[in-house]
Amino acid sequence: MAVKNLPREELFRLGSGGCPGCPSTLALRIALKALGKDTVFVIPACCAVVGLGSYPKTAFDVPVLSIAFEAAAVGASGVVAGLRRQGKMDTNVVVWAGDGGTYDIGLQSLSGAVERGTDFIYICYNNEMYSNTGIQRSGATPYGAWTTTTWTGKAEQKKDMPAILRAHGIPYMATAVASYPEDLFNKVRKAMSIRGSKYIEILSPCPPGWRFPMEKMVELGRLAVDTGAWALYEYENGQLNFNLKSKSILEKKVEPKPIEEYLQLQGRFAHLFKPKRNEEALQQIQAQSDANWERFRKQVECGVA
Ligand code: SF4
Repeated sequence: MAVKNLPREELFRLGSGGCPGCPSTLALRIALKALGKDTVFVIPACCAVVGLGSYPKTAFDVPVLSIAFEAAAVGASGVVAGLRRQGKMDTNVVVWAGDGGTYDIGLQSLSGAVERGTDFIYICYNNEMYSNTGIQRSGATPYGAWTTTTWTGKAEQKKDMPAILRAHGIPYMATAVASYPEDLFNKVRKAMSIRGSKYIEILSPCPPGWRFPMEKMVELGRLAVDTGAWALYEYENGQLNFNLKSKSILEKKVEPKPIEEYLQLQGRFAHLFKPKRNEEALQQIQAQSDANWERFRKQVECGVA
């Protein structure tokens, strides 16, 4: 669906407390256009509650259950059970959580809900850190990135959360970025059409946390895809399917841009370029990205996800 054809109705209203240029606000608007009114959100501690609004002030035009950091997926399981018991079989129950609440604090709750086959859509907007509590590192923070708890750059690689979800045998999972709104919209619609657990992870370049000017947010999301730092794909019926530019990169029809182009736009990686280039770290980041793509190619070739 082309952007101009997305539904005009806004279920996420003006006046939220999110930062200007917030990627998760944009992603929420798009997701809500796909989900429609018959939706209940369950939101743990994250910017969506702190910044974007929950009771008694809210920008959401659908019900929101605000819940403890670790409890989103189990809370959603209860909401699903209650709604289905009332015969409301088609109401969308959606968890909207950051990467801190997904990769780290809420992981056991999410794992349990997916193992039980809970009929919900879990959406992780991944800004690769704990942004609402002061930009601390999370399990999603990439190697080399500055945060307030990794002053000289994170020394560890990030977790591969989508792979952990696939290992649960989840019926549907997808990755997205708000810079490609039609792709995000279509993936949410696809998730709505499938019974059982669905997981969508949206890369969310966050201006204050990643230290870049807010007007570059959409550009940075596209550059993440163009450099191969972020892959757009879906996992359905045990198959991986790549989308848009990521499909061309996977099939080696286009070369990804050097990952440096993506890093250079972000102040959180500035220490890798000044006062002098850290060649070793830069090469390691590029090599890790190349290795990820080789792994994807092997997984697609062998039908192993
Ligand atoms: S800190 Fe980042 S993710 Fe949170 S509201 Fe601001 S821009 Fe959005």
